[in-house]
Amino acid sequence: MSTPAYDAGRLALMLHELRLPTIGRLWPEFAQRSDKEGWQATRLLGALLEHELAERAKRRIERHRAESHLDPTKTLATFDFSIVPMVSKAHVMALASGDAWLDKGATVLIFGPPGGGKSHLGSAIGHALIDAGYRVLFTRTSELVQKLQAARQSLQLPSALAKLDRFDLIILDDLSYVRKDQAETSVLFELIAERYERRSLLITANQPFSGWNEVFPDPGMTVAAIDRLVHHSTIFEMNVESYRRRTASDRQSRRRRQASTDNHEQGATTMTE
Ligand code: ADP
Ligand code: MG
Repeated sequence: MSTPAYDAGRLALMLHELRLPTIGRLWPEFAQRSDKEGWQATRLLGALLEHELAERAKRRIERHRAESHLDPTKTLATFDFSIVPMVSKAHVMALASGDAWLDKGATVLIFGPPGGGKSHLGSAIGHALIDAGYRVLFTRTSELVQKLQAARQSLQLPSALAKLDRFDLIILDDLSYVRKDQAETSVLFELIAERYERRSLLITANQPFSGWNEVFPDPGMTVAAIDRLVHHSTIFEMNVESYRRRTASDRQSRRRRQASTDNHEQGATTMTE
C-alpha cells in the first residue's frame, strides 16, 4: 500500500520559510527521479541537502567578492610572473591559499615604483583568498583614512574598527600617498595596532619605510607602525619598469617596426616597377 503524497503547496511554503531556495527549485525533479528509480529516502534527502549547501557556498563567495571592492580583472590568471622574476610565484601561491599567515594576522608588504604591478598582485592574492572562503576588503589607504577620521569625529572610531574586523584581510593600496598634513593619520596607526597579530593587512606603497615619516604624525608613531607591520611579514620588492610604460613602448616599437616594414615593402615595390 502506498502512502499518500505530501501536499506540494505546503512543502513549497515550508522550504521558503526555512530559506532553502535550492531545494525548493530542485525537489520536484529529484522526487520524480527518486520515485522512478526507487531511491532510498536517505539518498533523496542527501542529494537535495548537498545541492543546497553547494549553492549557499557559491552565493556566499559572490557576496564576499561584491563587498571586497576588488577589480574583477586583476587576478592571478591575468598576472604575468615572468615580468617580475624577483617575485616567487610559489611564495605568492602559498599566500593565496591563506591558512597560517591569516590565522596569525601576518602582513604582506609590496613595494615598488608606480606601474610595477603592486595593486594587481595584491588584488590577485585577494581574489584567491575569497575563492578559498575568506573575506577581503580592498581600499585606497587615503579613502579608508578619511572614513576612519570621520568616525573618530563622531566618536565612532572603536565601532568602525570593530566593523572592519569581519575582514580576514584588508588591502591598503598606496599607503605612501597618505600625507599627514592632509589628514589626521593617527587613525591609520590605530587600525594597524588594532589588527596586530589578529587580523591581516596587505599594504602596497611606492616608497619603502624610509618615506613613511611623511605618512604618520610623528616619528615615534612611524617606528611603532613599522615595527608591528614587519614583525610577521612577507615583503615583495617589485623594482621593475612600469608595466604601463613598457606596454606603451612595446606598442610604439611595434608601430615603428610596422612602419619601416611598410616603407621597405613600398621601396621594394618601387624598385621592381
Ligand atoms: P602599481 O600598483 O604598482 O602602480 P598596477 O598593479 O596598477 O601597478 O599595474 C599597472 C597596470 O599594469 C595594471 O593595468 C596592471 O594590471 C598591469 N600589470 C602590471 N604588472 C603586471 C603583470 N606582471 N602582469 C600583468 N599585468 C600587469
Ligand atoms: Mg597601484
